[in-house]
Amino acid sequence: MEPVANYLRKYWEVPGAYSYKMPWHRPLEDGKYKVEHYFSLSACCSGVINDYTLNGQHKLYNHKYGDRIWQVYYDLCGDGICRNKLHGCGFKDKFGRDIGTYCVLYKRDLIRRTVSYAHKHGKTVMIHAQRDYIPMMTGLADYFFPGEQYGSLLQRNPFGYVDEVPDIIYRTEFNRDVLGIGVIHLPALGQADRANFRKENYKYTEAMICMLQSHDVDTSQDWAASKPLQKVWDAMRLYGVEKEETQCFRYYEHDTIKSSNPEIRITYYACPGGKYVLFLANKDIRPQSGEIDLNAIRGGDYEAREEYKGKPIEVKGGKFSIKVPSRSFRIVAFPPQSNYPILDNMNEQWGAWCGNKCDSEFLQSKDGGIDKSPSLMLKSNTTGGGAFIRHLPIKPGENYVIRVKVRQENVTEGNVCSISVQGRDGAKVVAGPISKKIKASAEWQTLELKANIPEKDKWLTCDGLLLLLGTNGKNCITYFDDFEMIQQ
Ligand SMILES: [Zn+2]
Repeated sequence: MEPVANYLRKYWEVPGAYSYKMPWHRPLEDGKYKVEHYFSLSACCSGVINDYTLNGQHKLYNHKYGDRIWQVYYDLCGDGICRNKLHGCGFKDKFGRDIGTYCVLYKRDLIRRTVSYAHKHGKTVMIHAQRDYIPMMTGLADYFFPGEQYGSLLQRNPFGYVDEVPDIIYRTEFNRDVLGIGVIHLPALGQADRANFRKENYKYTEAMICMLQSHDVDTSQDWAASKPLQKVWDAMRLYGVEKEETQCFRYYEHDTIKSSNPEIRITYYACPGGKYVLFLANKDIRPQSGEIDLNAIRGGDYEAREEYKGKPIEVKGGKFSIKVPSRSFRIVAFPPQSNYPILDNMNEQWGAWCGNKCDSEFLQSKDGGIDKSPSLMLKSNTTGGGAFIRHLPIKPGENYVIRVKVRQENVTEGNVCSISVQGRDGAKVVAGPISKKIKASAEWQTLELKANIPEKDKWLTCDGLLLLLGTNGKNCITYFDDFEMIQQ
């Protein structure tokens, strides 16, 4: 603990509150860090700590890399009782009884100031407090992050999201329209048991998705299996479910699309461009079959697609039949969309990877691209190395062409620009790489990679590619623009 905090401890502390062993990365002179552990101090918001915290945020926002901050997040941000007599929360009343004070007003002050200052700088605020949602306190933030409370329930029954958490919780506590702020669900499956991340246990994450998506609750990936979740997100994005104009109709809010079997719940999204996504959920311990009637939104014969397993569906006279597995879901969408081409004019920054000792910088140039358009900018310094990265969906047995425009400033003899892909099974890299290099040049050129994905060996389980764009050069700047991926 800091000497100042140690000195002030008795004045600041909430007696009896949790203390956590927290890691701190002490900066060393060579650019490395040493991890040290300290016990946290649970400080009461009625003291000077609110000013101290806001001052810290002020420094962060005005730091030269302050623009990289996306969001302020408060953990353990619920209401609690403080009985510390040294700052007045604890006192004896006139009958001699020991009285404590709830922190709600002081914490409200902290959240109000944090949100106001964050919004001034274009940032958002998210709060974690298990189920402790208090409209005039936590309700001032942009997002609430509930769900961790189910850790022990899931230890006992990993199907708990379906079997035990009742619908009413999803319709109220997890409902952004009821809470009045954004809600991001925090999965607790992996916390309950690390084995729940494994492939044979994807069914538990699917059960969670079954409940969350049918109630249109957004979730983070933490502590849930990545592969099923990302598959659902990829399918939703293909039809524009995340777009602002998209309308969601939860299963209990519409009578438009009908199921012959009431065990199959239908939540659907009407997306821009006349695209529809149906989320069919089955809570039952048995699989359920039914006929789905789409006539209220589109009659006649046409093609639709089941996007979770990737199978075509024939709609005849506005109807189709489907079997939904137990405690799981299916996603039926139309008209069928293709993942390709994927086009990106680099108007937004990509993610990046580099080694520990690498001093390369991964930036975005506002006018370094073709015809002064925005582009990615890799500033290689003394060490060189590192790459821009991106995830791309694929299927084994299919052939793809990936192209990107590239130019380099300060070219030295021997410099090359490279593109490379590795096969991913969920979040894990398991196959590859397939790569291509070209000689670096000050003029724009096309870097093209043919990626024919084998339908065997380690590629067989791959559903995505990890793409890397980089150079071997040092003390140079490489610009990437106009990315394109097509299927052949
Ligand atoms: Zn207090």
